[in-house]
Amino acid sequence: MVSPKVAVVTGSNKGIGFAIVKGLCEKYDGEVYLTARSVQRGQAAVDVLKKLGYKPLFHQLDITDQNSVDAFKEYLKQKHGGIDLLVNNAAIAFREDSKESFGTQAKETIRVNYFATLKVCEALFPLLRQNARVVNISSMMGHLSRIPSETLRDKLKNNNLTIAELSQLMEKFVKDSEAGKNIEEGWGSSAYAVSKVGVSALTFAQQRLFDSETPNRNVAVNAVHPGYVDTDMTNHRGILTPEQGARAPLFLSLEATFKGKYVWNDTTVVDWIKP
Ligand code: NDP
Repeated sequence: MVSPKVAVVTGSNKGIGFAIVKGLCEKYDGEVYLTARSVQRGQAAVDVLKKLGYKPLFHQLDITDQNSVDAFKEYLKQKHGGIDLLVNNAAIAFREDSKESFGTQAKETIRVNYFATLKVCEALFPLLRQNARVVNISSMMGHLSRIPSETLRDKLKNNNLTIAELSQLMEKFVKDSEAGKNIEEGWGSSAYAVSKVGVSALTFAQQRLFDSETPNRNVAVNAVHPGYVDTDMTNHRGILTPEQGARAPLFLSLEATFKGKYVWNDTTVVDWIKP
């Protein structure tokens, strides 16, 4: 008997992640995991979907917590043997009026959006089955042009950039920011943008690794800008509904035939390097 497909969406108790889970419950031919760092908020979100007639599964997952990530990995391995879709959606953004120093904001934003996403990938990638898909939720802020320095852009767009080298660049951004040198060193003034450029660059590096090391697994990794969406993250100033924001992530989860691309919310592939 062929085991049913399994989909996992991180940070899906609200916002775009919740809408992605809802869309997958409607269209995905398999089991769908809504995950959340808070069991209470996660269960409440599952209950909302159950009242609408959907049947998502739930598991706790705090992407910054290695124990939580490892426990989820073991659970998936025991229960399903593997997974077929991973949507890396969980992320944070400091409010514009945050009183935290830029160094603190940089450290926390990179810790969650870049390093914790990488942590989830490192844990769950060995479970990805043949023809699996990975969707990394980036942003329009994750376009390479958001980095002012040409030297940094050259490093980030290098086709031989390894994940270890990319992680070193992200660490350098944090160090430069803590030293008050983020502008001088060419990173600009948005920690969120650097974290999402990191997620985009990570996507391409991950695809290169799958293609070179295990081409027969046929794994597709893509990054996506979901649009400017009405969620808590945007203080509800976004112009799209969460369902509209879920459109391109769902397209990449269910339909896209390409790999290693940066995709806009209208589902078109956008050149990540061209300004
Ligand atoms: P929300 O703030 O509404 O939702 C973020 C989700 O991530 C929440 O479920 C939150 O959980 C979860 N999360 C945060 N930290 C962790 C963690 N450590 N472990 C697990 N889950 C965590 O944001 P959006 O829905 O707007 O954003 C979803 C994605 O889309 C993000 O990657 C964001 O960067 C991206 N994006 C959003 C845009 C927009 O206009 N909204 C534009 C471009 C990109 P909790 O409820 O516990 O805080």
